[in-house]
Amino acid sequence: MTKYIFITGGVVSSLGKGIVAASLGRLLVSRGYKVSIQKFDPYINVDPGTMSPFQHGEVFVCEDGAETDLDLGHYERFIDTNLSQINNVTSGSVYQTVINKERKGEYLGATVQMIPHITGEIKSRLIQAAKKDSPDILIAEIGGTIGDIESLPFIESIRQFRSEIGLQNSMSIHVTLLPYLPTSGELKTKPSQHSVNVLRSYGIQPEMLVLRTQIPVGKNEKDKIALFCSVNKDCVIECKDMKSIYEVPLYLEEQGIVTQISKILGLKEKESDLTSWENMVQKINHPERTINIALAGKYTELNDAYISVVESLKHAGFENNTKVNIKWIASEEIQNMEDTKNLLKDVDGIIVPGGFGVRGIEGKLKVIQYARENNIPYLGLCLGMQCAVIEFARNVAGLENANSTEFNKNANYKVVDLMEEQKNIAGYGATMRLGSYPCKLSKNTKAYDLYGTDLIYERHRHRFEFNNDYKDLLVENGLVISGTSPDGLLAEIVENPNCDFFIACQFHPEFKSRPQRPHPLFRGLIQAAIKKSENQLQKIGD
Ligand code: GLN
Repeated sequence: MTKYIFITGGVVSSLGKGIVAASLGRLLVSRGYKVSIQKFDPYINVDPGTMSPFQHGEVFVCEDGAETDLDLGHYERFIDTNLSQINNVTSGSVYQTVINKERKGEYLGATVQMIPHITGEIKSRLIQAAKKDSPDILIAEIGGTIGDIESLPFIESIRQFRSEIGLQNSMSIHVTLLPYLPTSGELKTKPSQHSVNVLRSYGIQPEMLVLRTQIPVGKNEKDKIALFCSVNKDCVIECKDMKSIYEVPLYLEEQGIVTQISKILGLKEKESDLTSWENMVQKINHPERTINIALAGKYTELNDAYISVVESLKHAGFENNTKVNIKWIASEEIQNMEDTKNLLKDVDGIIVPGGFGVRGIEGKLKVIQYARENNIPYLGLCLGMQCAVIEFARNVAGLENANSTEFNKNANYKVVDLMEEQKNIAGYGATMRLGSYPCKLSKNTKAYDLYGTDLIYERHRHRFEFNNDYKDLLVENGLVISGTSPDGLLAEIVENPNCDFFIACQFHPEFKSRPQRPHPLFRGLIQAAIKKSENQLQKIGD
């Protein structure tokens, strides 16, 4: 039978509950347990797919095409397991199911209410997630902060669920903030006490507290919190800010968090094997070199909008003992080639990630032109491939003002166009080409070299595609289409063999990179960037 760990947060949002959940997942996986992690988000959107990245950060895409909260990315990366639609529940999706059932008459004349119908649906999502992969442990993270009106139905559902399955089969971990007051030099415990009080007022007594803090928490503070919150002293766990999120599992492990969890849930204490994770953290903390990668995007003020791209760059860096420094480029601020040169003259590689809408597109095209003309390693992701095709069409194949119909419906040369299957689709929710699709790679290409196989599966999230009407012309001019859908109809990867490393893909490789298994395309970019930076140093030395 699956055991459940519920994680809630208190005092403030953005505490890093997702990293705590993911880290705990890693510690349990390292003991041979099968773990799944589920996120409950209190907002009314059915999924985050329709939200602006400024609101919500990145939309993470699962193998099955689910558009999910970015925490699912952390979960997949930490527990090294693919998750799916059932792992991301929103209030919107719960209400939608309940209202659809009501319209079909499935409630047989009952008054449909928050309790038991909405709570019943929330509980059924927990059971569905447990049924899907039969994990030994399901970690369920509740988004938002205790005390929020929106998350109440989730908290009430947990209360009911816990008593229904037997208290020994589940536990509650409350993650809170200990603010540090520099004037008095103290960490304050009161907000955490209040937060636990609110949680108790909903009928949940947490068995464990995880304290987010800037500085180490003294024994006095820990004991005080334990006393006020009726939590065992050994179950007050400190989670200090770390240099790298990948250090968090090790920090929690040192404090014996799993021993305590095992006692509470009646799990057999198993030996953990964290050797390879420790080796990775060792590499992270002792890089041999630093390289600079420019990331030219539209949502650069909010780094969370590109979190999987950032993590993927880091993963490839870890493997190569390299710290990857990201230079954020707000593409709409680029006016001309002079700006572009000034911004990019010291970078070792360039990424143009995914995105939507025309804002900043011309700047991205200049960045790509600069990469191509100056032989700077380039990796284009989704929109970054579409822009690479537009740039090539304009500046190499001579198709003046070539564009994507997304940015100019009246362009003379629509080298990127709406996909055939998208033409009759109405509405915006979950209507893109989403999730994992196969892609066939051509031999003697960079893509084939990097992947070392001729059939790959990658995750997609887009409406537009390479327009095959221009295929012959672009190929004659030197563009290589190295990956296509198995029927050959969709161009999925393009390359420019005149550059040392210029590769762009219609899919999002960043969703499949794992800290100990970097994605081949990111590995390729980082290795090319290291080479470039070393050649540069050599030149300076000469
Ligand atoms: N806006 C482009 C499209 O819909 C690219 C999408 C993306 O980068 N994810 O095709």
